[in-house]
Amino acid sequence: MRTSSVCEHCDPETIKTKKEREIVMKKDCLFCEIARGSIPSATIYEDSWFRVFLDVNPASRGHALIVPREHFDNIYELDAETAGRLFSLATCIARAMRDALGCQGLNLVQNNGAIAGQTVEHFHLHLIPRYEGDGVDLTWPQHEIDKEEMEEIRKAIKAKI
Ligand code: AMP
Ligand code: ZN
Repeated sequence: MRTSSVCEHCDPETIKTKKEREIVMKKDCLFCEIARGSIPSATIYEDSWFRVFLDVNPASRGHALIVPREHFDNIYELDAETAGRLFSLATCIARAMRDALGCQGLNLVQNNGAIAGQTVEHFHLHLIPRYEGDGVDLTWPQHEIDKEEMEEIRKAIKAKI
């Protein structure tokens, strides 16, 4: 049996569903402008929730961005309904990329905050098709960690969910 995943951060009373609110756009936001179509983009899919378009400086052939029409700065602002629809759409775009591009793999990347590499402050999900020898490098350092520290981190995050 499934249980509810609603926590204090994503309580629907706090974060209203799309049906209950207007689409909020932000002035002078590049991706708000692209989402509404006032700045052109190489669009591969659009509906009333999202626009999906090719990245203007692609990491690999077919690199695309899923962008909600509504303005959210980052993942912390995203409501559950938009997030759910977004990931569902990502699976659809991923299969289309696999079939159209013949990529051998695919990375999903989503940056939040300048420290994490976010350069456009409107939530977006990167879909980066991967090919043998494409030169894309998404690696990070791997550290050792002792059990005590791991337990401390586990407890700290768990307590906030
Ligand atoms: P991030 O660094 O995660 O914020 O990603 C922003 C992405 O937006 C980068 O990969 C840029 O190449 C891409 N980008 C910026 N301007 C445009 C644009 N006008 N059309 C398409 N992609 C863009
Ligand atoms: Zn925006």
